[in-house]
Amino acid sequence: MTKSPSWLPAPDDSNLPFFEGAKEGRLRLQRCNDCSAWMFPVRVRCQSCGSTNVKWADASGRGTVYTHARLQREYHPRHSGRLPLVMVQVDLEEGVRVNTNLIDCDPEKVKAGMSVQVAIEHSPSGEAVVVFRPA
Ligand SMILES: [Zn+2]
Repeated sequence: MTKSPSWLPAPDDSNLPFFEGAKEGRLRLQRCNDCSAWMFPVRVRCQSCGSTNVKWADASGRGTVYTHARLQREYHPRHSGRLPLVMVQVDLEEGVRVNTNLIDCDPEKVKAGMSVQVAIEHSPSGEAVVVFRPA
């Protein structure tokens, strides 16, 4: 029996809380204990104050589309049968920008500034992938 191809990179100690949060339906990001700034992608030091005193916390999952594009060609097993795939950069309420996919949305109707919320997509092999959908 052939195993379904992975949709995600293998988590490591630095980003495991993000992927474990996705399995629980939560968007978890790093947050600085000293200045309260949120961080993404994973960092050792706070990009705001330089502190290494960071923790993982649940983000709101709410944001707005900063920019978007459509993927028209299949580059990964994840894209199979799903084109065009809407790729977006989302500005989260927490002040960080994430690269992700937008689901449950007509690609013609995606607009910069539209409100979106986090969603979890499950791969055939059971991985939980953080994506967004219209709010
Ligand atoms: Zn800080």
